[in-house]
Amino acid sequence: MLQKVLIANRGEIALRITRACKTLGIKTVGVYSNADKDLMHLRFVDEAVCIGPGATSESYLNIPALLTAAEVTGADAIHPGYGFLSENAEFAEMVESSGYIFIGPRPEHIRLMGNKVSAITAMRKAGVPTVPGSQHAVTPANAKEEAAKIGFPLIVKAASGGGGRGMRIVERIDTLLESVQAAQRDAEMWFGDDTVYMERFLQKPRHVEVQVLADGNGQAIHLYDRDCSLQRRHQKVLEEAPAPGLPEQARADILKSCVNACELMQYRGAGTFEFLFEDGEFFFIEMNTRVQVEHPVTEMVTGVDIIEQQLRVAAGLGLSIQQDDVEVKGHAIECRINAEDPTTFMPSPGKIETFYAPGGAGIRLDSHIYPGYSIPPYYDSMIAKLISHGKDRATSIARMRQALDEMILTGVKTNIPLHKDLILKDEAFCEDAMDIHYLEKHLLKQLEAPASDKKSD
Ligand code: ADP
Repeated sequence: MLQKVLIANRGEIALRITRACKTLGIKTVGVYSNADKDLMHLRFVDEAVCIGPGATSESYLNIPALLTAAEVTGADAIHPGYGFLSENAEFAEMVESSGYIFIGPRPEHIRLMGNKVSAITAMRKAGVPTVPGSQHAVTPANAKEEAAKIGFPLIVKAASGGGGRGMRIVERIDTLLESVQAAQRDAEMWFGDDTVYMERFLQKPRHVEVQVLADGNGQAIHLYDRDCSLQRRHQKVLEEAPAPGLPEQARADILKSCVNACELMQYRGAGTFEFLFEDGEFFFIEMNTRVQVEHPVTEMVTGVDIIEQQLRVAAGLGLSIQQDDVEVKGHAIECRINAEDPTTFMPSPGKIETFYAPGGAGIRLDSHIYPGYSIPPYYDSMIAKLISHGKDRATSIARMRQALDEMILTGVKTNIPLHKDLILKDEAFCEDAMDIHYLEKHLLKQLEAPASDKKSD
């Protein structure tokens, strides 16, 4: 097994990785910025190293500081978590060329999937169904020709995009050129790469994704699927596993094609194939080459510890399970709890005054917060993931409602009311999975301020 893992992340995922390592008897190194001295996992790790000031560019994205921390502590492997450097192929390369094990896929696969145009091309070749769209970069020069093949409405997306940023929906040909140019500018600004591409804009799809694990030597398995359709600004708010109501043949086919694609490229570690699902058909949109925020819902229904499998694969031990061992039991839901205003969605950093963690049968809370903890303003506003598991969807919803009712958190604003009073009270959602526009177009409309009280964003 690995001897000592440096956790190049913060917050709940750093705590989650610390727990997995300690359970397996692996030593841990935590890193932190000056703004993060009070992070919970730093109390549990074997060693902790300050890597720089609060700004992410000087700490959690600071590759030399991370490699130095690995060197001084004698770590043999680095786990990047999610976000930050987790999908940065140069980082993975530098980790490996400095003699450490990168707990993730090979750099070439991170690079392949990091560019959505090359990812889509590779997946199409591997037999994974993709959204009809441009098979290469789109520029003002070829935009009209490409659009004629795709039809309207279409969506212009950044090849290096992420976090739901910079996508533009184009309804008609007369706004096409200006949308492509604006998308190029946005892509350059956000991702330092102005490559954009276009695909058909699906009107009412669901977001369904497939969790895979692979040993790097051509063996891969899937851990079934998740539905992450409840989104705001293309960002997930609530996720569930398995995806409700999928036709069994369509499910079996898509799971098989994801596993085949992993085996074909000899993928290593954990990954997620993201699809839009509409009218019984799957359309690949991207692959995430890391552990995802919503991995706990899959862990709850399959009983597989995904981080443990990542660590095993990185150590060269292969997966400890085979496809036949994986069975879905019941249903799980995750609510992302953010420190933000529940109506304006403005971040709400600050000190947590009181905090009571809910519990009981089927409840899991992945969080690094505690009473007296101050949420710094520099990072993502997600402070907890509340997960419920039950024998079926209705039970996991009932348990989630109870857990949200129990959760006491004062001092900062949170989106708990959004989950409790809006989503989990909505009859249509509780009956069935909804499409990706449902949260914004139906549920959030109910929050809209009176006309006199205009929102600034
Ligand atoms: P990012 O990497 O920025 O998260 P994705 O390609 O994963 O971008 O898309 C994020 C979300 O944007 C999807 O879950 C979906 O809600 C929406 N989306 C992306 N592509 C399309 C499309 N072709 N049609 C409709 N919605 C889309």
